[in-house]
Amino acid sequence: MDVLGNYKSVISARSADKDILKKAQDGGIITTLFAYALEEGIIDGAIVAGPGDEPWKPEPMVVTTKAELLAAAGTRYTISPNLSLIKEATRSYGLDRVGIVGTPCQIQAIRKVQLYPIGMRDVDDKIALALGIFCMENLSYQALEAIVEDHCNQKMESVTKMDVGKGKFTVYTERGAVSQMPLKLLHKYVQPGCNICLDYVANLADISSGSVGSPDGWSTVFVRSAKGNTVWDGAIAAGLFETKPMDQVKPGLDMVKKLATEKITNNQKNVEARKTAGLRADGTPKGLRNPYESP
Ligand code: FAD
Ligand code: SF4
Repeated sequence: MDVLGNYKSVISARSADKDILKKAQDGGIITTLFAYALEEGIIDGAIVAGPGDEPWKPEPMVVTTKAELLAAAGTRYTISPNLSLIKEATRSYGLDRVGIVGTPCQIQAIRKVQLYPIGMRDVDDKIALALGIFCMENLSYQALEAIVEDHCNQKMESVTKMDVGKGKFTVYTERGAVSQMPLKLLHKYVQPGCNICLDYVANLADISSGSVGSPDGWSTVFVRSAKGNTVWDGAIAAGLFETKPMDQVKPGLDMVKKLATEKITNNQKNVEARKTAGLRADGTPKGLRNPYESP
């Protein structure tokens, strides 16, 4: 299996919009693409991880304006159940063309909804643009709080940005990068499901993006589907991105491939270990009947 999935092109890019770059996590790819798709009528709303009641706790949100997109820009390193809003987006908000951003597992779930729309009638054909973000692992909100407050000694409310890169988890405040923690110390906090996850770069998204492979402030972008291609070409023609060929940036595609291979190889071992222990890959005992499987 190719650890990077199928893609039509891979590029290093960053948004040409300075307001987006100020708020975005990396090259502002997701916010710029959704803003463009809204403007062009490709989508009439997007489900994103907006700011919640507690600091850095995301709240899935349906947004329809660039201002709302900007408020939701940046990465929140905890679970944001964006899919929980799919039905509401189409039924309560009345959207016919929905954009959605998600981690690789969430993009897989979207594709399952489209293949088997059980309980999701009228939703499957309304997903107009699925944008994926790379993901090595994820944390519960309690774990994130413990990491920031106990290990990094910062109050959640004073943090302006969190970032993962170059083997470290970094916390920023108004004073700049104030605390760093080696990623290997983070592993014990990771959600158990992430230890059997076999997708790093959102293989099933229309377009997927992450920082790894590209220089600071830039993103690596995989254009994957025909729809993704149309949207990407349109955004490029509209002058919305600066781009560089992937083979001219450092650390480059080899780094993305290396990390994807490490994640998948390690997690495949965990899947095998669970099988040997008489568990399904999802951790449930084999003797228990899955209500969704035929007897
Ligand atoms: P922006 O324009 O800043 O937009 C980001 C979009 O993502 C926003 O719409 C926002 O609402 C949404 N979002 C924020 N948090 C979440 C969330 N928790 N779940 C779903 N949607 C969310 N990139 C790597 O290169 N390597 C990694 O190992 C890696 N691990 C990650 C782990 C986690 C848990 C998450 C959430 C992201 C990870 N990323 C990783 C992706 C990276 O942090 C950026 O999100 C990505 O590069 C997009 O940046 P951007 O500037 O293009 O997006
Ligand atoms: Fe989902 Fe996999 Fe990321 Fe965990 S590691 S949040 S299962 S994509």
